[in-house]
Amino acid sequence: MRPFASTISFDEARRRLDAAVVPIARTERVALGAAPGRVAAEDLSSSIDVPPFSRSAMDGYAVIAADTSRASAGSPVRLRIVDRLYTGQAPATAIGSGACAEIATGAPLPAGADAVVMVEQTTRDGHDGVLIAAAATEGQNIGRQGGDIRAGTTVVRRGELLNPGRIGAIAAIGRQDVQVYARPRVAVLSTGNEVVEPGGLLGPGQIFDVNRFTLSAIVESNGGIADARPPVEDSVASLGGALDGCSGADIIVFSGGSSVGERDLIVDLVAAKGEMIFHGIAVKPGKPTAFARIGAGRTPFFGMPGNPTSCLSNAYVLLVPFLRAFARLPEAANRTVTVPLGRRIVSQAGRLQFYTVTLARGAAMPAFKGSGEITSLSHADGYIQIPADQSVVEEGQQVEVTLF
Ligand code: AMP
Ligand code: MG
Repeated sequence: MRPFASTISFDEARRRLDAAVVPIARTERVALGAAPGRVAAEDLSSSIDVPPFSRSAMDGYAVIAADTSRASAGSPVRLRIVDRLYTGQAPATAIGSGACAEIATGAPLPAGADAVVMVEQTTRDGHDGVLIAAAATEGQNIGRQGGDIRAGTTVVRRGELLNPGRIGAIAAIGRQDVQVYARPRVAVLSTGNEVVEPGGLLGPGQIFDVNRFTLSAIVESNGGIADARPPVEDSVASLGGALDGCSGADIIVFSGGSSVGERDLIVDLVAAKGEMIFHGIAVKPGKPTAFARIGAGRTPFFGMPGNPTSCLSNAYVLLVPFLRAFARLPEAANRTVTVPLGRRIVSQAGRLQFYTVTLARGAAMPAFKGSGEITSLSHADGYIQIPADQSVVEEGQQVEVTLF
């Protein structure tokens, strides 16, 4: 058994992870309906004008603006209705001077007309007439052909996140599928002789696998595809075999094997198959976290602590930024609130602490029970960071809570 020779700071761990990210290059074609949240791997330019024809932006009357120049509420101008234009139809009649067409929002503008008067500014007059009570200006209430997107222009660029607005622009230009970056495949493996899959009964000394599920949830909600495997026993042979089974993965995440007796197994494994980038971070919880590059492909390998809260906490602060950058997603937009602390916290000096809290009555109450207790997280609304050089946060002090 050997204790940690040394630890690196959290910021140094983040720097080494940032430096190790090689954004995914693999791409795939997906149907537009499956594209939200994906990242475009091509520039998308339009082959059509949007809208494809000039159209009315209002329910009203398509007119020649010059015919209405003298119109006012007190002295309306009478025009003759020569056509009724609905959406989805091509107008057949051109509008001449003194004439107009009743038109629906979205219907193509008839030839000759150059403005639309909205129905609220009109009154019907007899069976084929309408009184226009306001002067129209040329172009008013018209959506010009190509006014939204002109043929040949790029609507979405490679590398952009396909949010609902961009999905809409792609639909508007008539594309039914889009080339996107593949979601990174992340192998998720729990290690430990005592760890068994939920669903059965526990034997003596056994516990249910928590980390497989928390890590998979993190992966799936941050752009990855979690490929979770059954728990692996603590032996170099089993761990080595399991690692060999991850050859198709873009990223490998193991959990467990970080207590002093087992730690050497991961170190030995990495020594045999790759290069250790760090092992041991001055954070609490989550000190026994390792990061390495494995095999010929230098596949990123995370060795997360087995304690469920340590594992999930470090997944939030280390795995999430790495995975998102790998997947070419923008950084997670963390929501924070600043509130007074409801009860004094004493923290361990020398380690940056991620301390979970609940929010109640406008204050942050400590929720951290211990690194091994998943309820430290499941009962929490967020966490505060207590710097390594600070050992006490006083009741009433303002704290910034990062919300889960
Ligand atoms: P380890 O990091 O393997 O030394 O494990 C530290 C603690 O976390 C031990 O109490 C383990 O039983 C527990 N543990 C390890 N892996 C898991 C897991 N996948 N789910 C729940 N608890 C775990
Ligand atoms: Mg273990």
